[in-house]
Amino acid sequence: MTALFYTRLKKGDILKKTGNMQIRISAEDKSLQREAEIYAFTTVDALKRAGLAYLASLMLLVICIPIPLVHFIAVPTLLLLGPLFAALIFKIFFKQEELRIRDAQCPTCQAALKLATTPTEWPLHDRCSECRVSYQAEILSKTDI
Ligand SMILES: [Zn+2]
Repeated sequence: MTALFYTRLKKGDILKKTGNMQIRISAEDKSLQREAEIYAFTTVDALKRAGLAYLASLMLLVICIPIPLVHFIAVPTLLLLGPLFAALIFKIFFKQEELRIRDAQCPTCQAALKLATTPTEWPLHDRCSECRVSYQAEILSKTDI
């Protein structure tokens, strides 16, 4: 319970800080190091979103009950797909990580870089939007808290 640090990134998204990363951004022969913070959705927040998705499917089901003919197909379909939809929403948000990198700059022109906040594979390769130099971002170290 030492590092329970919550932050609000977007409206309604409560993320818990789960770790830190040291990242090296290199382009041509220059490189710089930056620290990144890793945030993740809590289990409770993922469950809340899944619950809301299930409630939405139930509300749609209730709306479809009085509609002739539609209710023959919509009600059983929503009964079956509502829990599956909720499970999918939970899987999407459960432990989803987001990176927050402080002062990510291009090593050659010092322009601010927009690095991916949910990178799927490292190292990242991209081009600076100002000087068009291709750069690479790699993980030097990662610590969990
Ligand atoms: Zn640049």
